[in-house]
Amino acid sequence: MSSPTARPYGPADKVGTRPALVYEVQKVMKFESELNPQFGEEVAQKAHGEKLFACIQCGTCSGTCPVSHYMDYAPRRIIQMVREGFEQEVLTSSTIWLCASCYQCTVDCPKQIKLTDIMYALKQIAIARHLYPKNFSVPIMAEEFFKQVAKNGRNSEGKLMIGIAWRTHFLNLLKYSRLGMKLFTTGRMGLVEQGIENKEQLRTLLRGVEKTS
Ligand code: SF4
Ligand code: SF4
Repeated sequence: MSSPTARPYGPADKVGTRPALVYEVQKVMKFESELNPQFGEEVAQKAHGEKLFACIQCGTCSGTCPVSHYMDYAPRRIIQMVREGFEQEVLTSSTIWLCASCYQCTVDCPKQIKLTDIMYALKQIAIARHLYPKNFSVPIMAEEFFKQVAKNGRNSEGKLMIGIAWRTHFLNLLKYSRLGMKLFTTGRMGLVEQGIENKEQLRTLLRGVEKTS
C-alpha cells in the first residue's frame, strides 16, 4: 500500500532551470493476516451500504469530491481499503473527518454506493474505538458536542470551546481569549450550562438509538 506522503523532490536537472520531478513513494506492505476480512461487512451493515462491494473503482467519487485533495486517502481508495480490510488505516485516516457530507460522491456514483453514509459509519466506529488522529479537533468536537447534548439536551458554546481546546491545543485558549471575552460580554457565548426540562426523556431516546445502532 503506498503512503499518502508521496511528494516531488530532487535536485535541479542538468539544464538547471527546473527541478527533476521524482516522486518518493513509501510502500508499506501488509500481510493478509494483518487485515480484518470482516471489516467491509461491518461497515456495510452499519451504513446500509452493502453496495460497496459493487464498486468498480472508477474514481468518479474522488474526482467529484471538493475536498479530496486535502485527504490522505481519496474516497475511491477508502472504499477499496474498507473492502480489503485495512481497518486500522481507514479508521485513523483524516479522510473520514474531512468529509464535508456534501453527498456529491453519492449522487454521482454510477453504482449508487452511499459513500457519505459509509463515511458516517466509519466516523462512528472510529469514535467508539477511540481511533482518530491525535489532537485532531474534528472528532474531538463531535465527542464533546455529543457529551454535552446527552447530558443536558443542549450545548453550551463556551464549555464546548473549552472542552475542545483542553483536549487539542490548550494554548489556543490564550490565543483566542480576547475574542472569547468579546463574545462573552456581548452575550454571544455563555459559560453556564443550560439544559432542557425533561432530561430523562432524552436519555430514554438515546438509549433506544444506542440499542439500534
Ligand atoms: S464512484 Fe462509486 S463505483 Fe466509482 S470508485 Fe467511487 S464508489 Fe466506486
Ligand atoms: S460527501 Fe464527503 S467524500 Fe463525498 S464528495 Fe462530499 S466531502 Fe467528498
